[in-house]
Amino acid sequence: MVLYLQDRLDDEKVYETVRALRWSEGKVSCPHCGSEDIVRKGFHNTQKARRRYRCQGECCGQFNDLTGTIFEGHHQPLEVWILCLYLMGLNQSNQQIGRELGLNKDDVQAMTKQLREGVVAKKKEPELCGEIEMDEVYVVAGHKGHTESVAAKGRVGRRRRLKGARGRGTAQKDKPPIFGMIERGGKVAISMLDNVKQQTIKPIIKKYVQQGSLVYSDEYCIYDRLEQWGYRHKHVCHGIGEYARDDDGDGFCEVHVNTIEGFWSLLRSWLRTHRGISQENLPLYLGFFEFTHNVRARGKALLPSLLQLLLCP
Ligand SMILES: [Zn+2]
Repeated sequence: MVLYLQDRLDDEKVYETVRALRWSEGKVSCPHCGSEDIVRKGFHNTQKARRRYRCQGECCGQFNDLTGTIFEGHHQPLEVWILCLYLMGLNQSNQQIGRELGLNKDDVQAMTKQLREGVVAKKKEPELCGEIEMDEVYVVAGHKGHTESVAAKGRVGRRRRLKGARGRGTAQKDKPPIFGMIERGGKVAISMLDNVKQQTIKPIIKKYVQQGSLVYSDEYCIYDRLEQWGYRHKHVCHGIGEYARDDDGDGFCEVHVNTIEGFWSLLRSWLRTHRGISQENLPLYLGFFEFTHNVRARGKALLPSLLQLLLCP
C-alpha cells in the first residue's frame, strides 16, 4: 500500500485557494472579456470542486476556475500540479517529484517544464538601482540529449579563471556563460549569454539597471565601458589579489563583488540537484531561481508566491 502526497490534499480547499488567488475579493471576472457580470453554472463534470461560470457581459462565454491559466486542460488533476509546484519550490529533482507523486518520468518532466516556462513568462523583470554588483560565471550545460553533462560544475574557483580561463566559456563549448547583476540588499537579474562581449552585455545592463547607478565589478574588460553607458563604475583587481577596497576612506571596503559571488554559490547548489540540464532548458532553471530569490521566500513560503504569479492575469 502506497500513500501519495496528493491523497492528503483536499480538493475543495485547493480550488478555494485558486479562486482566492485568481480573483481578489471574490470578484470573479470573465477571462475572455473581463466582465464582472457573471453567473455560477454548477461544477465541472469530473473535478467536482471546480466551479463553472457563464459570462453575462458582451461575450456570453463560459469558463471555469482554471480557464485561461496554465493549470487548464491537463490530464493530471489540479492538486497534482500544485504539489509538483510545491516540490519544485523545495528544489526537488524530476526524479524525486516522480517518486513523491507516483508519476512516471516523462509526465513529471513535461509538468515541471511547463511550470518553469509559466514562471519565466509571467515573472516581472527586476529593476535594479543604487549599488549593483556584476559578474559572470560558467556552468556546464550541453545540448539536448547530452545526458553526461553535469550542471553547475562551472568555473573552478577564482584562481583558475585568473590564469586565463576567462572568456573561455561559450555556448558552443557547452559551458554557457551566465551574467548576473545584483542590487546590494535587493533583487537579482541573471541571464544566459551566447558569449562574453561588451556588445552582448550592454543591452542587458541597459534593460535592467537604472542609469547613474553605481556598478561594482572585477577588472574584466567587458566592464570597461560602463561609464560610457551612463553608469558610475568601480572595480576590484582580482588579478593582483585585491578582493575589497575602501575608496571613500570611511573604513568600510565597499568596492567588492562578494554579494554576487555569494549568489553564485547559492545558484550552484540549487542547480546541482538537477543532472544534465541542457542549454535549451538552462534559461528556465535560471528564471525560476531568479524568481525564488527575488520574492525572498523559500520552501513552504514560496508556494503562494508561485501560485499567485501563475494565476494572476
Ligand atoms: Zn465575457
